[in-house]
Amino acid sequence: RGQQVKKVVVIGGGITGLTAAYYLQKEIKKNNLPIQLTLVEGSHRMGGKIQTLIKDGYVIERGPDSFVPRKAGPINLAKEIGIDDMLVSSTWGKSFVIAGGELYPMPGGSIIGIPTQIAPFITTNLFSITGKMRAAADFILPRSAVADDQSLGRFFRRRMGDEVVDNLIEPLLTGIYAGDIDQMSLMSTFPELHQIEQKHRSLIAGIKKAAAQTAGEQKNGRFMTFTKGLQTLVDGVEEALEPGTVQKGMKVSRINKEEERGYTIEFTNGKVLDADSVVITTPHHCLQSMFPSCSFMDYLKEMPATSVATVAMGFDQSAIKKNIDGNEFIVSRNSDYSITACTWTHKKWPHSAPDGKMLIRVYLGKSGDETIVDLSDDQIEQIVLEDLEKIVNLEGRPEFTVVTRYKDSMPQYTVGHKKRTKTLYRNLEERLPGVFIAGSSYEGLGIPECIEQGEKVVEKTLKYMKD
Ligand code: FAD
Repeated sequence: RGQQVKKVVVIGGGITGLTAAYYLQKEIKKNNLPIQLTLVEGSHRMGGKIQTLIKDGYVIERGPDSFVPRKAGPINLAKEIGIDDMLVSSTWGKSFVIAGGELYPMPGGSIIGIPTQIAPFITTNLFSITGKMRAAADFILPRSAVADDQSLGRFFRRRMGDEVVDNLIEPLLTGIYAGDIDQMSLMSTFPELHQIEQKHRSLIAGIKKAAAQTAGEQKNGRFMTFTKGLQTLVDGVEEALEPGTVQKGMKVSRINKEEERGYTIEFTNGKVLDADSVVITTPHHCLQSMFPSCSFMDYLKEMPATSVATVAMGFDQSAIKKNIDGNEFIVSRNSDYSITACTWTHKKWPHSAPDGKMLIRVYLGKSGDETIVDLSDDQIEQIVLEDLEKIVNLEGRPEFTVVTRYKDSMPQYTVGHKKRTKTLYRNLEERLPGVFIAGSSYEGLGIPECIEQGEKVVEKTLKYMKD
């Protein structure tokens, strides 16, 4: 059995699958392992949700625009493939929140909407006096008795009150997850907040302490990307893979477990591959459809994923007469707006627009309000312009508008997600040995979390192949 070549097929060429394939190949080469690796991608391009469009001197991100460098995965991967000299950090700029239709500066020192400095919280007009007093109850309220999981809404509303949640915490979280905070799992999104509450009782005091410990770590702005966009990372990893590893236009329809050992993978184009081990990094709905007779995966059909869209608009700088003095704003649900967030991209990322031009990027779509994503490009452009005109004085049309729809793209980690995922892993191990899963549907949506899962799944796969 020793020298017989074994086959590993990684399915999905998003950042998770690319990371898994890269580190798997690195180990295969380093240890001269008798493993043949193939990365199959259903579409004709790599990157999945990551899509950068370079156009007339603009660097336009259709999907994610950056990552938070709190975890080392993205930077390590960039170093591995020699593109770390192209990394850039976002510039600092003011952020705003639109609540009840009014624009307010984001209170200084708030972390996920929780105040860590008292003065900006007391002086902001974003909350009424009653709202502020209710939030101060956090100092005296007992710890939550829920040891298991609870919704983010329940957790935050209990500690901080509805007003701080609805005007600040909810829009901030919507900006990240496009979810419904009253359904979303605390333990799958911010387990550390539960720990802080259990340890310090007060969230405000605990977060303040934690923030003081990490102060100075993020001097270079909060986010990072590459001068030619996130696609640089995708292209870099693809190029670093051995020729022949990547097969595009290979959409998996079904995976069958063979009696002896291993799997056959059927593709919609009629091709078939066999594999000793399969690493599946597609969204969860796709995973379930590959194993239609595995009832333990049935629940994945019901696991929600929100549809969102991004709209990028290029303007000449003369087109905006009255502007906001900041980089971005988010919108609370209690405001009569269709957009959920907006970034003055040319300010946050000076490399993203030519001199004298502005690049504005807007997000649309959130849990419970997704139909907007299905409107036509023209309708979407009109709605976005109407919303923008409520806060800035626009004279003239955008020079271009790029609308990108992401249908069912933001997996929702609802209450109990962690437990269900654990059970899914256990079932896979018992019933489909050698099949591993990773990616944004399971242990984090952010690019760093996807990269981390890509790294972790390599360890599991190699261990299985050695056993
Ligand atoms: P995907 O990127 O979805 O890749 C899965 C791949 O599998 C795709 O290429 C798909 O074509 C392929 N596939 C599917 N089915 C099959 C099949 N049957 N056979 C073969 N291949 C198949 N994260 C951040 O960190 N920062 C951000 O700023 C940020 N902004 C975001 C903005 C938007 C609009 C969206 C949608 C997401 C954003 N995210 C952000 C989240 C992050 O982009 C994603 O969670 C991450 O890119 C997902 O990577 P993935 O590889 O797990 O999945």
